[in-house]
Amino acid sequence: MEGYVQAGIGVVLLIIGVLLVINLLQNHKIRQKMQKDESKLLDNYQSLKAAYEEVSQDKEELAEHCEELSRSKERMQKTAYTDYLTCLPNRLGYSEFIEAEMRGMKPDEVLAILDIDVDNFKIINESYGHSYGDDTLREIARRLTRLVLERGAYLARIGGDEFAVVLRDFSGREELEAQIQQILNYLKEPYRIGEKEFLLTVSVGVVMVPIDGTNCQVLTKNMDAAKFFAKTNGRDMYIFYDDSLSRTLAAKLELQNEIRKAIEDKAFEVYFQPQIDLSTDQIIGFEALVRWNHPERGVVPPAEFIADAEECGLIVPLGEFVLRESCQKLKKWQDEGYTKQVLAVNLSARQFKNRDFMDSVMKIIQETGVDPKQLEFEITESMALDDLEYTIKTLQSLRELGVSFALDDFGTGYSSLNYLKRLPVNQLKIDKSFMDRVLEDHSDQKIVETIIALAQALNLVVIAEGVENAEQADFLKSVSCDKAQGYLYSKPVRENDLKVFLQM
Ligand code: C2E
Ligand code: CA
Ligand code: CA
Repeated sequence: MEGYVQAGIGVVLLIIGVLLVINLLQNHKIRQKMQKDESKLLDNYQSLKAAYEEVSQDKEELAEHCEELSRSKERMQKTAYTDYLTCLPNRLGYSEFIEAEMRGMKPDEVLAILDIDVDNFKIINESYGHSYGDDTLREIARRLTRLVLERGAYLARIGGDEFAVVLRDFSGREELEAQIQQILNYLKEPYRIGEKEFLLTVSVGVVMVPIDGTNCQVLTKNMDAAKFFAKTNGRDMYIFYDDSLSRTLAAKLELQNEIRKAIEDKAFEVYFQPQIDLSTDQIIGFEALVRWNHPERGVVPPAEFIADAEECGLIVPLGEFVLRESCQKLKKWQDEGYTKQVLAVNLSARQFKNRDFMDSVMKIIQETGVDPKQLEFEITESMALDDLEYTIKTLQSLRELGVSFALDDFGTGYSSLNYLKRLPVNQLKIDKSFMDRVLEDHSDQKIVETIIALAQALNLVVIAEGVENAEQADFLKSVSCDKAQGYLYSKPVRENDLKVFLQM
């Protein structure tokens, strides 16, 4: 029995021992695994730590990068909104400013925006060079800065020779106009740049905010319209926008469109007005005067379209048409044996200044086969003087072909002896305005006599236009005027009605 018990205890002990060994073995395995896991964890931790360090370094770099980006964005924005020449805000900066101003305006607040445009700035650039032009713009910017910034006004350069000023510190229209006039006056003071001294003027379009517009686009359009009228009314002035300006401008654009179409449709016609030799009463020539055969308005006189055609450049094709028509008619008369009468054709400034002017004249002379000896051009003093050297050169080249020249509307412009002496013209045309009152007005009489004496002294032929009655003709004869033209002899007529004059 005891033996069994002992054996049982032995078995139990063996089992316990086996279990212990198994347990020990398992524990060892677990420990081994734990050790493995621990070192894996450590590895992971290390790589995570490294990654974290890397990320935080990247984060720092990123932050630096962001800062640099925002700095350069600021720089770019500043450049995009600033004019490089004057360091003033440019058009973009100006538009942003106006939009922001309008968003923040109080109900009773009023602003005035001035569009200041330098008159004839092109001439400064062309005669002295572009860097000189730049210096002039900087000087204008400096004057404006000094004058308007101290008043808390806003100033920007919104175009090549265009500045915008926003005024807000005025109690009423009168005070505002005084401020604008002060700007005009200050800009008119002599400029001394480098060796040169010169004067310039500006034309200003003014809009009131919010009356004349509540966004930058509308305000700009209206400011342009006002400025346009300041320019076309003689420059060196300011004009306030009002609705009628827009309407006038729209009508003008429509008229210019109609002129364009009328040129294509050949709706223009050349009339001719005889010119008389006062010593023989013979017809010695004609002046070509254009008319517009308008489908609704009938025959439209040139006073109603020449200036607009000139303004938009359509005078160039229109003038070419008149010259071609005139040369064709003259060629026909020459072929019929009328070789004495001169045909005078009016030139406009823009046509004469056009680069292709000489080529176009030569081409028309060649195409029509006309003898240029019977062709005369009428130019005005202001046209001739605008670029005297060019005028002299062009006139001389045409004179070599036999073309002659008359100075139209003489007495209304500079009438300076100095340039008259240099201009290769053959004839002076006394302006109609002097003839109108020559019989009643003593000073007009004296002017006519003086022009005739001047013409004689310079060996020029003199013709009086606008002669409407026999008394005027008698007066002209008594003061030895060479020629006359006017309703007394004939109004301008169609070619068909000319035969009677050609045969005289
Ligand atoms: P302008 O060159 O001074 O032409 C003379 C104008 O006086 C013409 O007017 C003519 O019809 C008018 N006239 C002539 N005699 C008398 C008169 O006794 N009494 C009155 N009351 N008027 C008289 P028109 O034809 O209406 O031309 C006006 C202006 O239009 C011209 O003035 C000229 O500057 C311009 N013009 C006419 N045709 C052309 C053209 O083909 N080209 C250019 N560039 N201008 C032209
Ligand atoms: Ca004329
Ligand atoms: Ca005239």
